[in-house]
Amino acid sequence: MSSNVLLEINQLQTHFETESGTVKAVNNVSFGIREGETVCIVGESGCGKSITALSLMQLIPENGKIEGGEVFFEGKNILKLNKKDLRRLRGNDISIIFQEPMTSLNPVFTIGEQMIEPLQEHLLLSKKDAYKKASELITMLGIPNAEKIISMYPHELSGGMLQRIMIAIAISCNPKLIIADEPTTALDVTIQAQILDLLRDIKKDLKTSILLITHDLGVVAEMADYVVVMYAGKVVEQGPVLKLFAEPKHPYTQGLLKAKPVIGERKDKLYTIAGQVPNLVGLKDSCYFADRCEHAMDICRSIQPNYTKTSKQHDVACWLYEEGAVYE
Ligand code: SF4
Repeated sequence: MSSNVLLEINQLQTHFETESGTVKAVNNVSFGIREGETVCIVGESGCGKSITALSLMQLIPENGKIEGGEVFFEGKNILKLNKKDLRRLRGNDISIIFQEPMTSLNPVFTIGEQMIEPLQEHLLLSKKDAYKKASELITMLGIPNAEKIISMYPHELSGGMLQRIMIAIAISCNPKLIIADEPTTALDVTIQAQILDLLRDIKKDLKTSILLITHDLGVVAEMADYVVVMYAGKVVEQGPVLKLFAEPKHPYTQGLLKAKPVIGERKDKLYTIAGQVPNLVGLKDSCYFADRCEHAMDICRSIQPNYTKTSKQHDVACWLYEEGAVYE
């Protein structure tokens, strides 16, 4: 990866202990994010995309554990940071926006109180300056009457307004990377478009890198520079967005793109990928997509495919592309 890489994830593994066994939610995941780049992780729910993002910040639920791998941020393995440095990283360098702004904000504190806290802690601003900066951020994000908004409680604002406030908090300490986990899923379509525009402006104006988690290929097409496709905890394909949309290699990616409605193309029935995501407990050594894949061969059911480079920066884990593979 080139020198302007900001974040590099190598062989990340996050497992969960459940009553039925170990769930390998993130299974040897590797990809990188360059400075000023938007990387989208896409896949069905339960494919491990959110847990990948939470693992970077070490915010996974209690029954989960990072079992292996490395996450380098500006060359430093952040999985080895002590609590103090991790807290500093979370506030200063990497921030996160969740799907549900209402549950991310504390209902008993005003918007202003919640906005000034990171400004005081991470930028060491006085209370007065922190309020001034909070007000500027609200205005910058296109919300009128900043002074009034600051004194309001979360329940007094709409979902779209709250998500803007979450974005204001996320950018308040000038992070180098914003992780946005399905930031528009809970919002109306028109508000979704505004929030995506906002994220695009932030990337352009502040040169922030963005890791965007989404199940929506429309969002990927609008936002991504680079796409990571996940299936059953594994990365099955990754590449630059134009390449991946023009020449999807993995049968799962091809299925996702086929299932996406296209404006102007009326079909009686939308395409769906037949079958279910496999149970992540006790997966055997095979391609996890084999039961749903129309190209599945014997080898797919007995050996996991390695990654094959199909062009510069475009990798796919599928036996169809492995050189020298003996198909049965
Ligand atoms: Fe299909 Fe085999 Fe490729 Fe898996 S490895 S996606 S089963 S062709």
